[in-house]
Amino acid sequence: MEEKILSEKRYHTIVVGGGIAGLTSAVYLARSGQRVLLIEKNKEFGGLVNSFKRDGFQFEAGVRALEDAGIIFPMLKDLGIKLDFIKSHVSVGIAHEIVNIETIDDLLKYKELLVKFFPESESEIDELVKVIRKIMKHMEVLYGIENPAFKDLKTDRNYLFKKLLPWLPKFIFTVGKINRMNMPVEDYLKTIIKNQALRDMISQHFFKNTPTFFALSYFSLYLDYFYPKGGVGKLAEAIKDKVLEYGGELRSETMIMEVLTDKKIVKDHHNNSFQYDHLIWAADLKTLYKIAKTEGLAPKIKAKFEDTKGVMLKNRGTDSVFSLYLQVDEPLDTFRKIAHGHFFYTPSKSGLGETHRGELDELLRNFETVTKEQILTWLDKFTRLNTYEISIPGLKDPDLVPPGKTGMIISLLAEYDLFKEIKKSGWLSEFVCELENQIIDVISGSIYPMLKEKVIARFSFTPLSIENRVGSSEGAIVGWSFEKKMPVVNKMQFSARSVLTPIPSIYQAGQWVFSPTGVPMSVLTGKLAADKILKKTKK
Ligand SMILES: Cc1cc2nc3c(=O)[nH]c(=O)nc-3n(C[C@H](O)[C@H](O)[C@H](O)COP(=O)(O)OP(=O)(O)OC[C@H]3O[C@@H](n4cnc5c(N)ncnc54)[C@H](O)[C@@H]3O)c2cc1C
Repeated sequence: MEEKILSEKRYHTIVVGGGIAGLTSAVYLARSGQRVLLIEKNKEFGGLVNSFKRDGFQFEAGVRALEDAGIIFPMLKDLGIKLDFIKSHVSVGIAHEIVNIETIDDLLKYKELLVKFFPESESEIDELVKVIRKIMKHMEVLYGIENPAFKDLKTDRNYLFKKLLPWLPKFIFTVGKINRMNMPVEDYLKTIIKNQALRDMISQHFFKNTPTFFALSYFSLYLDYFYPKGGVGKLAEAIKDKVLEYGGELRSETMIMEVLTDKKIVKDHHNNSFQYDHLIWAADLKTLYKIAKTEGLAPKIKAKFEDTKGVMLKNRGTDSVFSLYLQVDEPLDTFRKIAHGHFFYTPSKSGLGETHRGELDELLRNFETVTKEQILTWLDKFTRLNTYEISIPGLKDPDLVPPGKTGMIISLLAEYDLFKEIKKSGWLSEFVCELENQIIDVISGSIYPMLKEKVIARFSFTPLSIENRVGSSEGAIVGWSFEKKMPVVNKMQFSARSVLTPIPSIYQAGQWVFSPTGVPMSVLTGKLAADKILKKTKK
């Protein structure tokens, strides 16, 4: 196909990936007067921060609610974006016991919940709660001030002298403590809790080998969740509108297939070329390393790029997620009486044990010889013993469902390789249907007994759908797996370095460039990448 340079225009910066990280980079560069082009492969922007409507029911395609972390609100304030927010309260439940988490004091209710099921482990649960409390104090320091990346330190002297400078020593002290709590949470819990089922109740809804600090900070995160009126996607929409308002250009349904690093050109799936001075890659990082052509680069830079590529390509994304979407012919009130609209629910106190680890690994290792029945037997256990994240958008904003009805997203962490192998064997639709049936059975047989008879319509997204939609390796939803050595920056104090690549004109942002991550860190790295370019171009 003949190559076309689509525009004579050379962009100061091209941002590839219109998720929340790319949107953040684009809006700040556009605000500074740069010629910016944001390129997104999908029709809609937002990536994993996205809401969509089906038959009058609104759902989230990715993250179910947002956390501020001292990042989101300061960014919105800085950009002059006004959105209506609703507090998104969380409930936690085991079997028929549910605890609504609304204030810090509800940690005590959480403790009582665990003690009810594991009375013999009361003193160990006490120990756990002490650790969670300590971590909550660290979180207060960490997220307790508006992130300096979103403040103008030259003009806001009050912030600089009264908030930032007094905060810095506390931050350094806290970061030291946090870095010492990096061991996998499962291993850490073994040091304080003997009962495996209890350890599972606490940790099985985290990604495998999640660092202890990140996992046990969940209680703080539960208190921090908020929901934009109209759905999570409103956040992405508002930033996108600002990009346009500041004169940035957006190009959707454009997939970048090649980066010619020496010529500073990106090429899309129609072989159109776009020229840049700087590139911010805010999409899957393995993709960048696979598609970047390094001929013509200085040998030292090329060698460094190849080294980094080797490390990146050996690594994998985190566990992915399976999400079942239900349209239910039952009013919101029925569900409101049971739990909040963001609900972490474990139907059985037995715990997953080795189901999602050793047993699954064994199935995958011997996939050629494993029968369908063996997989379905495993699936039965997996769905009965798991922890579900249940989101009911209408309980946060009743305008998101038709009157008298409820939309529901029930999800659990899921292994990408399992879905891939089953697809290869040709029975993915059957497997997905079975998984949907089992989830509905488990949830109807426990917490929402009315559910099964009231489902009007259902559909689901597998790890393969996530990979397909946002191009995320292994369908990962928060970047790199915690099971291997992290190939990117994972220490808060070095976050500014996370956006650098071996090629000086290319920066990186988003969930793949720092660990652990999520929406706030994706936003922060988006801003940091933009800042680096602005600083460089001012020189
Ligand atoms: C079910 C679920 C629950 C979650 N829960 C939480 C939570 O509670 N808290 C939290 O903080 N985070 C959570 N997350 C994670 C969070 O949503 C993501 O980490 C974050 O949104 C990532 O943003 P991003 O911009 O880095 O990447 P993405 O959202 O993946 O955006 C990348 C964009 O790049 C585009 N793209 C990819 N390849 C190309 C290409 N070649 N050319 C052009 N465009 C391309 C994609 O289409 C996509 O729009 C959750 C995610 C999911 C799915």
